[in-house]
Amino acid sequence: MNCFIKKFTFIIVLTLITFSCKEDQDNQIQQSRAENRKALGSSAEDLLSDDSYRSMTVEMVYSPAYKPTQQTLDAFMTFINARVNKPDGVSFIETIISDQNGPFSISQIRNIENEQRTVYTQADDIAVYVYFASGNANSDTSTTVTLGSAYQNTSIVIYEKTLQEVTNNVLDDLTRLEATTLHHEFGHIFGLVNIQNDDIHPGDTHEDPDHLKHCIIGDCLMYFEAQSITKNKIKTRLQDLKALQNIPSFDPDFCIQDLQAKGGN
Ligand SMILES: [Zn+2]
Ligand SMILES: [Zn+2]
Repeated sequence: MNCFIKKFTFIIVLTLITFSCKEDQDNQIQQSRAENRKALGSSAEDLLSDDSYRSMTVEMVYSPAYKPTQQTLDAFMTFINARVNKPDGVSFIETIISDQNGPFSISQIRNIENEQRTVYTQADDIAVYVYFASGNANSDTSTTVTLGSAYQNTSIVIYEKTLQEVTNNVLDDLTRLEATTLHHEFGHIFGLVNIQNDDIHPGDTHEDPDHLKHCIIGDCLMYFEAQSITKNKIKTRLQDLKALQNIPSFDPDFCIQDLQAKGGN
């Protein structure tokens, strides 16, 4: 009997120890992730300059059917390197997961990040997470679709399923739309346009008063149509992108100036 009680107590103590270890672990995980759980635009300077972080790791997360094209990944690397000051370099990590069930709300997108993101900011390396979603945004309507969203300081979702649908998987169109969406959302984590109310241009000269957080210049990467688009405009948009030859870039007078003010190029 005595022995039984001892054994029982031992088991309880063991259980308590295991529980508190788990709690410590959870706290540690939360702490190590805190740097990547901040408001959109708040890490613009950390991403652009070399003041706090000398390198950047971008984690690309996707399931096999929703992998971005190699041309998109190459163009993305060129795009980032042209804008940021990272003397120790920019690197990509690809994490392959299984299909998740869409359509997704942003809180579902956050949950997926919690479960699937493996790279967090540490020491002098700043980490960015991009999820190529296997479903549409649940805010899509019969007339409008969301192509992507930047929802936290270092977190982006690209609605890859939507991109594949609207381009009918035509490789060139898909690549152009993927790259444009990706670069546009990256512009948002760079703080564009006026995300943190710290734009250096006065009044409404830069931020489009009809489409807040976006650029007033029609052919700038940060023009609002790069993020969500009405279905009847998609064809024209794809034709425009094709005619441009290149993926839209930041306009030199406003967006580039804002990036430079935060230590970028
Ligand atoms: Zn946007
Ligand atoms: Zn602009």
